[in-house]
Amino acid sequence: MNQFDVTVIGSGPGGYVAAIRAAQLGFKTAIIEKYNTMGGTCLNVGCIPSKALLDSSEHYHNATHTFENHGINVGTVTADIQRMVARKNEVVEQTTKGIQFLMDKNKITVFHGVGSFESATKIAVTKEDGSKESIASKYTIIATGSKPSSLPFIEIDKKRIITSTEALNLQEVPKHLIVIGGGVIGLELGSVYLRLGAKVTVVEYMDKIIPGMDGALSKELQKVLKKQGMKFELSTAVSGVTNNGDTVTVTATNKKGEEVSFEGDYVLVSVGRRPYTEGLGLENAGVELDERGRVKVNEHLQTSVANIYAIGDVVAGPMLAHKASEEGVLVAEQLAGQKPHINYNLIPGVVYTWPEVAGVGKTEEQLKAEGVAIKVGNFPMRALGRSRASGDTDGFIKIIADAKTDEVLGVHMIGARAADMIAAAVTAMEFRASAEDIARMSHAHPTFAEAIKEAALDATAKIAIHS
Ligand SMILES: Cc1cc2nc3c(=O)[nH]c(=O)nc-3n(C[C@H](O)[C@H](O)[C@H](O)COP(=O)(O)OP(=O)(O)OC[C@H]3O[C@@H](n4cnc5c(N)ncnc54)[C@H](O)[C@@H]3O)c2cc1C
Repeated sequence: MNQFDVTVIGSGPGGYVAAIRAAQLGFKTAIIEKYNTMGGTCLNVGCIPSKALLDSSEHYHNATHTFENHGINVGTVTADIQRMVARKNEVVEQTTKGIQFLMDKNKITVFHGVGSFESATKIAVTKEDGSKESIASKYTIIATGSKPSSLPFIEIDKKRIITSTEALNLQEVPKHLIVIGGGVIGLELGSVYLRLGAKVTVVEYMDKIIPGMDGALSKELQKVLKKQGMKFELSTAVSGVTNNGDTVTVTATNKKGEEVSFEGDYVLVSVGRRPYTEGLGLENAGVELDERGRVKVNEHLQTSVANIYAIGDVVAGPMLAHKASEEGVLVAEQLAGQKPHINYNLIPGVVYTWPEVAGVGKTEEQLKAEGVAIKVGNFPMRALGRSRASGDTDGFIKIIADAKTDEVLGVHMIGARAADMIAAAVTAMEFRASAEDIARMSHAHPTFAEAIKEAALDATAKIAIHS
């Protein structure tokens, strides 16, 4: 029988990173992945393919909307969706092959098949052809991730009624895409097709989009996307979805209590994701789940069975690739006797619409609910020379500091390159910077990042220079 120190089940950004770190620390390591490609949701049907399509559609949008203003005339521009999807597939292939390379480089044994516990220290791997192999492992890390969830009365037919996975592979631009759910995934994929010429209607149960993020970001993003042509039906509860062949009908109750319906040709169900534990045989090992079907873990990410750990989307916390990876590193380092730590408060969240949205730390709503006395600084992107030069003037940066100590408690931004700029806020907050600390640091001119300095000046003493 194959005997390993550490076996990881699932090769997403949680699992493959855990495996690499474990191997670096000298453990004899195996990884089990049920699909033929490595990388999990993120690399195959999540972060990477969605960003590839977002980038392609953004180029198209710029060619059709902003080039002329820059003095660039390109004549008739057409979007070739099939080429865009093919390019996206090339990007995915290169990226997933990169993970296989890293497995080989780190001498990690890869098993392709469904991993299933036979006991707390034995795992069976069932391959595509039905054959089985057994692994014995001292420690196991469950990193089986998540799957799209739906509403009980919606049947995903993968043709007209689709999840993000199918939305990444459409061979035509929808005429009217109805998106159920105004969260990150719905807005990102809605943006892709909006830019390519689809009518896009977002139907959201709550009274705002991106509900977990700071309220100011939610309002501004809705305003900007509306300006781009996206339609919003908020406080609207979907009650049914029907595939009529070439069209779909979504029925719902709006905020006035009226029955309404929307006709489109595709409906994207993006109402969240659920932890994935099917086929894992957790009962054979004695691993417990919580009330929401997630693997129950303590602060060390240890399950109810001492030698089994769980990380990423399959446990509680934000369903984000970088959170999963941090947890993978933490578990491997703990097994090696180290004392790693994750600051969950400083895991940034990003929405890759244009403009991009990003936030880290506490939102104003959270801090107010906690009764913390705060100071808020704001700076509009349109006041920056860099924004005017590029033509990206939408958005703002908001910095929330403690009213007494001036410590930065939250940074929330919407604007060009926010996804990359949020790293500066994470760094500052990890070192527990005050708003004045950031305000007194030199920021290169002209950059979008100058808005961080200006918002910090506004937060610390209402002394922003350019507003
Ligand atoms: C459209 C979309 C866009 C996204 N964009 C972003 C983004 O921009 N940034 C971000 O941070 N996050 C993004 N996410 C979320 C991100 O993909 C997840 O948070 C991340 O993939 C979680 O990683 P994981 O390792 O926990 O699990 P996963 O990536 O889900 O990987 C789990 C792996 O385990 C395998 N597996 C499951 N059960 C078994 C078994 N029994 N045996 C063997 N293998 C098994 C699965 O096949 C899968 O490969 C996006 C998600 C989607 C759907």
